Amino acid sequence: MIAQQKRIAELEREVAHLKELSHTDELTALYNRRGFKEGADKFIAEVKGYLKNPLRRKDFLVKSFSLAVFDIDNFKKINDTYGHQAGDEILKLVSKIIKGKVREIDIAARWGGEEFVLGLVGSRESQAYKIADDIRKRVEETAAEWAEKKIKFTVSGGIASFAKSKAKDFYDLFEKTDKALYKAKHTGKNKIVKFSDL
Ligand code: GH3
Ligand code: MG
Ligand code: MG
Repeated sequence: MIAQQKRIAELEREVAHLKELSHTDELTALYNRRGFKEGADKFIAEVKGYLKNPLRRKDFLVKSFSLAVFDIDNFKKINDTYGHQAGDEILKLVSKIIKGKVREIDIAARWGGEEFVLGLVGSRESQAYKIADDIRKRVEETAAEWAEKKIKFTVSGGIASFAKSKAKDFYDLFEKTDKALYKAKHTGKNKIVKFSDL
């Protein structure tokens, strides 16, 4: 019996570990898409509840949620110039900067390639902008050390808040945030653009 209980506990630990792996990006240890979407959906459900019943504000822990999407500028050129491994180091560096700038409750993921997404819990668009621009500035001040060279790099970003952008769900909010990122890319890069300014 005891042996059986031990085995069950072992299996439970294994399942928890596998779940964590399936939610994590291998290179940066941030969330991957699956992990991020799960977290974002939870917060969005809470905000939706609040927006429907604003008079019961005490019942809702989370009343706002904003998304930031970052994309490293000219990353292909960095890879081409210094190699793929140097590129990977920069991806890790950017993820560290993002982690260092957000609170425990916020969620961050590598969405794919050189694109990162950040869910800011309880933040309105203007607050999210400040955090995202802080990250952008920190990246600008940072250099990766690679083969005795210092590599400089920048990021562009887009911001949208769930309420202000009138998003319907996570993917709608993501699309809106991506539109703001697109504008940042097409108006000089190394900047953060708000969806409300489009
Ligand atoms: P832009 O400023 O418009 O974003 O240009 P960009 O060069 O950053 O964008 P583009 O989409 O042309 O290139 C992205 C590059 O990112 C191409 C691809 O090889 C590289 N990349 C994607 N995933 C990884 C990865 O995991 N590691 C490394 N080192 N490079 C990656
Ligand atoms: Mg990209
Ligand atoms: Mg890029």
